[in-house]
Amino acid sequence: MLEARRLGYSYARGRRALEGVSLEVRPGDWLAVLGPNGSGKTTLLNLFLGLLRPSAGAVLLDGRPLSSWRAAARGRRLAYLPQNGPFPPGLSAREVVRLGRLPYLGLWKSEGPDDERAVDWALEVTECRDLSERHLAELSGGERQRVLLARALAQRPAYLLLDEPTNHLDLHHQAELLRLLGRLAAEGIGVVSVVHDPNHALAASRAVLLENGRLVDEGAPGAVVTGAAFRRVYAGDVRLLAAESGLAVLPRWGEER
Ligand code: ADP
Ligand code: MG
Repeated sequence: MLEARRLGYSYARGRRALEGVSLEVRPGDWLAVLGPNGSGKTTLLNLFLGLLRPSAGAVLLDGRPLSSWRAAARGRRLAYLPQNGPFPPGLSAREVVRLGRLPYLGLWKSEGPDDERAVDWALEVTECRDLSERHLAELSGGERQRVLLARALAQRPAYLLLDEPTNHLDLHHQAELLRLLGRLAAEGIGVVSVVHDPNHALAASRAVLLENGRLVDEGAPGAVVTGAAFRRVYAGDVRLLAAESGLAVLPRWGEER
């Protein structure tokens, strides 16, 4: 289990970005993290990954404080798709995806068939096979996003954390990504995904809403996006529509506000 206990974080020069957040993510959960710009979503992911150290509270991975895990062991459990993540220049897509195997390679161990299988699988499920020999710098934003997702999947993580993963993706690849995350969760991976579009949260199994660094709602995604906290946070700016497949969440614009 991946667990945040009364988690707080303040940046050195800035206000408190996160306060008193308690959350549990179990294998097979798919948690969508909602909240306006600056509400602490990326900060929460970075704390979950051990990239930031909590100012208060703790993150526990499989019952142990994250700070007590060695980097390689943590890298076999947790993978990250950052928002606008940097990418190593001069490498082909396949070489980038292969970097996802680093947590499995000791100082003296070179890559074996398991590593190649994981790389092939990751390229396949992200529809990146045709891109494997292309250089990352030459890909479109959406293609690059899929390769970086493949790198995270090649880690074969127990928990996959993604920061606005549908950024840059066209509708087909958005749908593919949502299906893939659902499949990974069904296979027992714990997925935590920051989502920008509330409609994408509806695909998850659970949603949380952050506001000014605090967790203000948690529950079934449909209940969170129709809930009082969501309506208050986005006061007057959202419109909910009954849709063919359930519910659609749209921004409200024009005179009707
Ligand atoms: P979100 O991902 O929800 O948009 P973030 O977690 O990135 O929000 O940021 C939460 C708050 O922390 C914001 O007020 C943001 O301005 C601030 N913040 C983020 N990164 C830094 C930083 N490196 N230094 C200072 N403040 C930061
Ligand atoms: Mg963010």
